[in-house]
Amino acid sequence: AKVTRFAPSPTGFLTIGGLYATMISERLARSSGGVFYLRIEDTDKKREVEGSMADMIESLAAFGIAIDEGPAASGEETGAYGPYRQSMRVPLYHVWVKQLVRQGLAYPCFCTEEELQAIRDKQQERKVTPGYYGEWAVHRFLTPEQAKEELAAGKPYVIRLKSLGSPVSRIGYTDLVKGPIEMPENDHDIVLLKSDGIPTYHFAHAIDDRLMGTTHVFRGDEWLSSVPIHLQLFEVLGFQRPEYGHIAPIMKMDGTSKRKFSKRKDRDATANYYRSQGYPSLSINEYFMTLINSDYEQWRMDHPAEPYTRFAIDTNKMNASGALFDMDKLNDISKDVISKLSAESVFTETSWWAKAYDPELCGWLRENKDYTLNIFRIGRTPEKPRKDMAKWGDVRSSVAFFHDGWFAEETAAGYPLPTAVDALTARGIAGEFLDRYDPQDDRDTWFGKVKEIAEAFGFAKDTKAYKKHPETYKGSVGDVAAVLRSALSGRLNAPDLYDVMNVMGEERVRARLNRFVL
Ligand code: GLU
Repeated sequence: AKVTRFAPSPTGFLTIGGLYATMISERLARSSGGVFYLRIEDTDKKREVEGSMADMIESLAAFGIAIDEGPAASGEETGAYGPYRQSMRVPLYHVWVKQLVRQGLAYPCFCTEEELQAIRDKQQERKVTPGYYGEWAVHRFLTPEQAKEELAAGKPYVIRLKSLGSPVSRIGYTDLVKGPIEMPENDHDIVLLKSDGIPTYHFAHAIDDRLMGTTHVFRGDEWLSSVPIHLQLFEVLGFQRPEYGHIAPIMKMDGTSKRKFSKRKDRDATANYYRSQGYPSLSINEYFMTLINSDYEQWRMDHPAEPYTRFAIDTNKMNASGALFDMDKLNDISKDVISKLSAESVFTETSWWAKAYDPELCGWLRENKDYTLNIFRIGRTPEKPRKDMAKWGDVRSSVAFFHDGWFAEETAAGYPLPTAVDALTARGIAGEFLDRYDPQDDRDTWFGKVKEIAEAFGFAKDTKAYKKHPETYKGSVGDVAAVLRSALSGRLNAPDLYDVMNVMGEERVRARLNRFVL
């Protein structure tokens, strides 16, 4: 069983790439019968962003990623390995720091800012990697007595790791996603504890990954370069290290080239964007699965009714160079997901979404529940699934013409007509239909009437006849239906006309036809 975690620093909002990596961690833990937990790495108060932690927690929940342990938005925690916020664990880090100092594996460094700057200058001169500190680490070799003297004098200090690495030593490990990797060993005397007593990310995360029982770390590959530090920390602490899998960021198409999402430039870089657009969480889950393992799509076709959680992710088959995020594909998958929901679910989900993002739509849905439920029932059949909505944000445009006020707005500038029909003929057709309209008609009787009207106005009563002798007709029955569709919906593309009329009801159908004829 794997124990995995998501360990965000609350310095911003959850990105779509962060959500992607998190779903991988959660899936791998769950499918192994393990634990997935959330840890908030809030040791850098200066970089903290208000509302970030709440956003992380809410976004995970909104996208169907449940945590077994960790803080809730309320601050309350579940799990026996807490606290799960690093800012609440400071005394614990001190225990381990003291131990390392006692063992001679870490030491207090009293360098002033000027001294540090002098070292940085030397680093530049000698072209060693920035941060390299080794040979200039004057305080590394203080005797305990000397160190005590400095402490007694009240000098501010940080605690540094006494790095075991040299500039020429190398290390290797096998990454679960990227395969065998070789890198220079860490030779930096990195800071473990800052002068305010707060640990650095590297140190705190190593302690916590161990104490919280993490077996597998899956995270963005921007952390790959930190692995030498992390391996060394686990070594000096005497901890068994977790396995690492570094995930390439999802990419975006920009013109003809691929690039990373930019938090600053791309509206669609945050998880919140997809919430605000109203993508069902299942659509994002399904789409991510196709990005994680390319054989998921075949599995999905072979197992149409199984939940995606039954698919076992293979980390070896993950895209090592960055999967491409394709909005069109997400939309297609999402249309499919929505087409399989019941009308009741569509109603409920849309109402929830609209409550926050389109209050007017929400009000209309709730005040006209029977009517709007019937609207959502149109085309919700396995044989003929209606696939015109990729997200709840599409619902308004999809059903707006059923709303009398919105319909009036949409048609204020006129009605669209098929090219074969002029305005006068269109009015004639609508008028004729109005005369013969009977809401009790079954589908066949109704369609028989439409055909008769077609013939009466010089249109072929079926498309086959029309195709054989187009010169003898003005058009076909399809054009006549299009006129009625336009009169009722203001659109040429709308769901099944017979269903639309039934849902609209007699009064509304008559009112709209009358308005069209006038
Ligand atoms: N707190 C780090 C971050 O913000 C976590 C890195 C890790 O997963 O080890 O991404």
